Amino acid sequence: MPETDLAAALAWAVSLLDSVGITTPQPDAELLAAHTLGESRGRINALKLSGFQLDSEQVSRFEDLVRERAQRIPLQHLTGKAPFRFLELEVGPGAFVPRPETEVVAGIAIDYLMDAPAGFKVVDLGTGSGAIAASIADEVPHAEVTAVELSPYALAWAERNLSPLGVRLIAGDFGTALEGEEASFAVVISNPPYIPVGAVPQDEEVRLHDPEMALYGGSEDGLKFPRIVMERAAALLEDDGFFVMEHAEVQAAGVARILASTGNWRDIQTHQDLTGRDRATSARRTTRAR
Ligand code: SAM
Ligand code: GLN
Repeated sequence: MPETDLAAALAWAVSLLDSVGITTPQPDAELLAAHTLGESRGRINALKLSGFQLDSEQVSRFEDLVRERAQRIPLQHLTGKAPFRFLELEVGPGAFVPRPETEVVAGIAIDYLMDAPAGFKVVDLGTGSGAIAASIADEVPHAEVTAVELSPYALAWAERNLSPLGVRLIAGDFGTALEGEEASFAVVISNPPYIPVGAVPQDEEVRLHDPEMALYGGSEDGLKFPRIVMERAAALLEDDGFFVMEHAEVQAAGVARILASTGNWRDIQTHQDLTGRDRATSARRTTRAR
């Protein structure tokens, strides 16, 4: 049972989270305390040092959150927020929690777009909570951004995150969406489901709380859905348009090979995540024969 003294309550939380194998017990405990008190994480540290006392309602709310986190419910589902580049996205049950490696993938498209003229079109295929599309709209205000998503649960979160940024959200399948808009996009970006169907994610947060539809790539090599995304990207992009897609490290060579085999792509490049692993591939649409 936690204490009313904030420092003691945090120590209790860290020890409980650590005991169930959560690898980031200190930040998680501080962020849950911050959420309980409606304060920033930095302010929690100041309050802790000043001997702040929780009232009984705060003690019970904090205890509930920490016990839920100890059940491996994702931290972001408990706080309702996920940081992504310069944004704080709203997330919850039914939404894939955006990952740091995807911030790098979004950054590749954002860097490409920085010098582009106004009014060009960008689409994020399988937008989930809207993380990639939202960041592009936020950081490249002269882009016209569209996001496509099939899951009604994810769509509800995407709507909340994307409508304030003026992103057009389309409910549909990324294999067929945006019919009639072929050859009109300057950039197609995607973090599709790509985990091989037989591979089970180690983290319980992922295995039990990220939607299956967000995770599994639909075939043994996990590339069935990424292939569909690559094909649709080739159709949606204008000549010379830019494509970037996240994938697993072991899929880098396969993705490059698939792109190279179609004749639709040039300048195929593998990109590394922050830990140096090959986690994304970009390519330019070749010019169509006329
Ligand atoms: N782009 C988000 C991100 O990076 O945080 C979500 C990525 S999640 C790995 C993949 C997303 O693709 C999920 O939101 C899932 O619902 C969506 N998805 C899966 N199959 C789809 C399909 N056939 N058409 C459209 N979206 C699909
Ligand atoms: N990177 C995610 C994970 O390891 C997988 C996401 C995906 O399939 N796009 O859980």
